[in-house]
Amino acid sequence: MIVVLKPKVSRKQETEVLKEIRRLGYKPHVIRGVERIVIGAIGDERTHQSLEVLTTWPQVEQVMPVQKRFKLVNREAHPDNSVITVRGNLIGGKKFQVMAGPCSVESETQLLTTAEAVQKAGATILRGGAFKPRTSPYEFQGLGEKGLKLLAKARRATGLAIITELLSEAHVDLVAEYTDIIQIGARNAQNFQLLIAAARTGKPILLKRGLSMKVEEWLLAGEYVLANGNSNLMFCERGIRTFETYTRNTLDLSTIPIVKKESHLPIVIDPSQGCGRADLVIASCKGAVAMGADALLIEVHPHPAEAWSDGAQQVSLGQFAQLMEELKPFIAAAGRE
Ligand code: PEP
Ligand code: MN
Repeated sequence: MIVVLKPKVSRKQETEVLKEIRRLGYKPHVIRGVERIVIGAIGDERTHQSLEVLTTWPQVEQVMPVQKRFKLVNREAHPDNSVITVRGNLIGGKKFQVMAGPCSVESETQLLTTAEAVQKAGATILRGGAFKPRTSPYEFQGLGEKGLKLLAKARRATGLAIITELLSEAHVDLVAEYTDIIQIGARNAQNFQLLIAAARTGKPILLKRGLSMKVEEWLLAGEYVLANGNSNLMFCERGIRTFETYTRNTLDLSTIPIVKKESHLPIVIDPSQGCGRADLVIASCKGAVAMGADALLIEVHPHPAEAWSDGAQQVSLGQFAQLMEELKPFIAAAGRE
């Protein structure tokens, strides 16, 4: 930790601070500047009480941590990229992965038609919500276990792996029994008890960024998963709430190089919730690939206009096939397969 003293503090005030730093188990190293004194306090912030209490002292201007608050998610803890295996598909490796499927599972025909089409176009993981986090209680809430059973049926029919959202701690065992990847949605991104419960299933976890979540908060939410014994975590940017109204959310593609730099875990982009508009999905996917994303999570529906949720942002089967075609040169240019 770095402790910055206010200008012109007395010797006595300085000594008081040094004494307190030692008392809390740190070794102080004093740097005397022209205007003020800066103290480097050496010690492990994980095992000692934080020096942040010193900010309440009148002679102290600022206390800054040196170490990052996220430890296990931090690339320093694991310099190589982490690669997550989901039913034989590697996420975070050389192969670029596409997860695709409807926002909500609606029926067997809808899901199977979509699964076969996205697989034919090159997707390896099928998405579909069975428990839906809807803004209004009067909107379609998902088929629940019936939806999970349909996802399992689609997996049997196609061999695609599946990803679905875990909405509540009450459903942990049920969802884990069916899914290959547990999706933690934007609205639950800081539901720490849910993150812990999900982590303990040992299943790979895709953690969406919360609606108004800072990157550091998102990485710290991910830290809960790793700190609870599960290192199969991927982050998923899905847009954040801003003042802009042309799009449903503002898709923050800058998080791709940030997450890559700060952590060793894969980053997935969801352009569907990110923009809320089907006509922006292809361009956003190209941008995501070019910026180094490891995978995409895309909403696809056989008849978007008739979708039970998020109709405006779902691409049709034809549009998805076109998207996958148009992505090929971008994937190659990014050095991926
Ligand atoms: C979804 O993937 O359909 C969804 C509800 O996502 P988010 O949590 O990002 O809103
Ligand atoms: Mn959706």
